[in-house]
Amino acid sequence: MTDIHPTALVLFSGGQDSTTCLAYALKRYRRVETLGFNYGQRHHIEMQARKQVLARLPEVLPQWRERLGPDHVLDLAVLGQVSETSLTREMAFQVSESGLPNTFVPARNLLFLTLAGALAYRRDLSALVTGVCETDFSGYPDCRDDTMKAMQLALSLGMDRRILIDTPLMWIDKAETWALAHDLGGDALVQLIVEHSHTCYVGDREHRREWGYGCGTCPACDLRAQGWQRWRT
Ligand code: ZN
Repeated sequence: MTDIHPTALVLFSGGQDSTTCLAYALKRYRRVETLGFNYGQRHHIEMQARKQVLARLPEVLPQWRERLGPDHVLDLAVLGQVSETSLTREMAFQVSESGLPNTFVPARNLLFLTLAGALAYRRDLSALVTGVCETDFSGYPDCRDDTMKAMQLALSLGMDRRILIDTPLMWIDKAETWALAHDLGGDALVQLIVEHSHTCYVGDREHRREWGYGCGTCPACDLRAQGWQRWRT
């Protein structure tokens, strides 16, 4: 850790990746705040998951509990006006011919990062930590490393303040993400992720698998399950 980036804002959705990123940030930064976006996600499952994870994380990582600061939630209902996807409307999850799921909202991550940058500025936080990843699934062009570097430059120039975008998962796969969580918080953190984080695209909280709750067939469940199997073997 350097003195240049002592504080961070974690983009925290309540999923496996962002929960792992939050644990990573608590280890690396001396002050950490969290940010979620409410944009009418189906069943509000993600919003419930993030509350559950935030409530339990200090018990699992007591050595860093003093570092965890306020949680922020921004209302992004406006996203519903620029997208027709299964995240914001009652549509079945599908993968289009382009390979992008219909949950894809164009440039969504750019909006998230811009708002996160503005909030970080106001809260005097010097880094944004986000769980974007190129390794497992490159269907989202706004999660690519080049996009993150461009956003880091745009935010730093546009706010006239150096801001780091820290992407600890960019080059690791889902098996390595499970391993990273275990390195950071042992079995207790892995169990918290299994029980309380939510990744499934269709919002299934009925079916409990060894890797957590989910439908077991959507692309998000598939990645999570395959990563779990590779990590365990
Ligand atoms: Zn699923």
